[in-house]
Amino acid sequence: MKPTERQYDAIVVGGGHNGLVAAAYLAKAGKTVLLLEAQGELGGATTSVQAFPDYEARLSRYSYLVSLLPDAIVADLGISFKTLDRSIASYTPAHHDGRDDGLLVATAWDDATADSFRRLTGSDREGEAWRRFYGEIAELARAGQMPQPLPLELYCHTLTDPTILTPELIDKGFHTLTLFGLHTPASLFDADPKQSRALASERALASLNQFLLDPIESVLAPCSDGTPAIEVKSPLDLENDIFLPRGNIFHRDLEFPVLDDHEQAGDRPRWGAETDDPHIFLAGAGARRGGGVSGIAGHNAAMAVLAGG
Ligand SMILES: Cc1cc2nc3c(=O)[nH]c(=O)nc-3n(C[C@H](O)[C@H](O)[C@H](O)COP(=O)(O)OP(=O)(O)OC[C@H]3O[C@@H](n4cnc5c(N)ncnc54)[C@H](O)[C@@H]3O)c2cc1C
Repeated sequence: MKPTERQYDAIVVGGGHNGLVAAAYLAKAGKTVLLLEAQGELGGATTSVQAFPDYEARLSRYSYLVSLLPDAIVADLGISFKTLDRSIASYTPAHHDGRDDGLLVATAWDDATADSFRRLTGSDREGEAWRRFYGEIAELARAGQMPQPLPLELYCHTLTDPTILTPELIDKGFHTLTLFGLHTPASLFDADPKQSRALASERALASLNQFLLDPIESVLAPCSDGTPAIEVKSPLDLENDIFLPRGNIFHRDLEFPVLDDHEQAGDRPRWGAETDDPHIFLAGAGARRGGGVSGIAGHNAAMAVLAGG
């Protein structure tokens, strides 16, 4: 029987992790569910792929870390799911006063970060300059220029989980690196997508090389066509490949997770998944309380549907 010839209690559009969580909750509650996915594979931005045909390394192309998938969702759905912890969020080793030390930077500025800057530099001046620098970089991006140097987050997943490589690649000493460029909105790529992508790649490597004794290019794995094994994805690629609006990693700007008092009034939304249409619920990252790999948006949408009977 074709899907169109059947009636379903719920239709989930999109088989990213949130859509899958929503569909699983609804199915567990006894609802019949049709899940529609535009791609050949489920998982959306959480999917791991073999990015380089020459190397059997399954890379998570987009999502790097699992934000906060609650244990309750894992338990409710009875999924076999395991995460590996990173012990450090951001740490740059440094040799200081004849001893090994390091710079700890928390995601949001805090006392530990300020202390770390102070210990390494002897005052608050460098820490304040660092904060000013990031403010200026954000300004540059808003002004339509590719940042130089380009701020990056860097992840070496094989240090945490070598099994994304084949045993043969592990034996040969291969590793994977993911560079996540910051302050590179889609508007920087509109005029000339290809050239801007190449410029972003060049600046990302140059930014990284500032901190290396030898340029990263000297240790990049070669592909059989002679090119280095680098894959670059711009926000426009994210929109084309996996339908992220303007490449926004969370589909759209996130809202404050807690509803305002006036939004709570009467029969106003309770789950943050509700829309103007009583039959349509937002189950994706762009929902209130969505964003990141958490499954919370999918859970909340399913709960909102079930609350409606
Ligand atoms: C580069 C990058 C890095 C990231 N890093 C992190 C990270 O380190 N940690 C973290 O927690 N989060 C990260 N994120 C964010 C995280 O990946 C997303 O918030 C999360 O994957 C969203 O899940 P989702 O199921 O809501 O949507 P998606 O994963 O976007 O899935 C949506 C699905 O819907 C499908 N679809 C879209 N339109 C249609 C249609 N019309 N019909 C049928 N199917 C459709 C798509 O093909 C896709 O499979 C990152 C994202 C990106 C892009």
